[in-house]
Amino acid sequence: MLTNKSVVITGASRGIGEAAAIEFAAQGAKVVVAARSKNSLDDIVARIVEAGGTACAVECDVSEYEEVANAVTECVAQYGKIDFLVNNAGLIDPIARLEESDPNQWGNVVDVNLKGVYHGLRAALPLMKEQGSGVIVNISSGAATGALEGWSHYCATKAGVLSLTKCAHKEFSEFGIRIVGMSPGTVATDMQVSIKSSGINPVSQLEMSDHIPPEWPAKAIAWLCTDAASEYSGTDFSIKTDEGRRQVGLI
Ligand code: NAP
Repeated sequence: MLTNKSVVITGASRGIGEAAAIEFAAQGAKVVVAARSKNSLDDIVARIVEAGGTACAVECDVSEYEEVANAVTECVAQYGKIDFLVNNAGLIDPIARLEESDPNQWGNVVDVNLKGVYHGLRAALPLMKEQGSGVIVNISSGAATGALEGWSHYCATKAGVLSLTKCAHKEFSEFGIRIVGMSPGTVATDMQVSIKSSGINPVSQLEMSDHIPPEWPAKAIAWLCTDAASEYSGTDFSIKTDEGRRQVGLI
């Protein structure tokens, strides 16, 4: 259980982030849900509160540092501290081969998937250092280490996120702060709808029924915030394997 812990979750308006918000709240954590779609965030907060939990919504575009810093500040203002940060916001659109890719849109994916994670680390780490504790979970992907056609923006940014996880671990493990990546495998969210409609590369050929539900990575993220997961600090933990799933309690 995560009773009285506080967490900021980016990209919490749908998919894995939404499921994580529900999971953390169900385990007793106080949750700041952050994303651009304020109406969806307000709905999620209402559901959490109705179920007896504690949550608030902060409109936030992770490509803007000040907006991420504001979400982190709001967590401390509302709940007195920030125990956990889940850098989950991410996108894969538009999927395109390099020669057809649009430089501005390619750059936008860097701003969200890579700079967004840096912004979270930059905003939360000094506060966690002051507290002497904290866990940051960066949502990774098999794409961090594997190349796929049409996904150059996604693979390159997820590789960058894995590198950020390792660098942050080197700098902050001595202060009692854990930074860990989480690679979920393929998950039945809107992102997989986009991937399927692209028709590019083998992942697009999978059926929605081939993917795990978002509640699985949500449980893994919550588990990574517990001391039971400390051996994975500075690495990407995966729930693609039976061993990973067993540790989280999924099987
Ligand atoms: P999703 O259903 O498309 O949700 C993406 C979330 O990111 C939404 O809440 C969206 O909210 C938010 N987001 C996008 N751009 C943002 C921005 N500029 N600022 C703030 N929030 C932003 O995707 P998902 O599958 O849940 O993906 C969540 C994470 O898991 C991503 O990092 C993704 O790369 C990773 N992942 C997914 C899979 C998979 O198979 N689905 C596999 C491996 C890793 P707004 O639009 O409201 O801002």
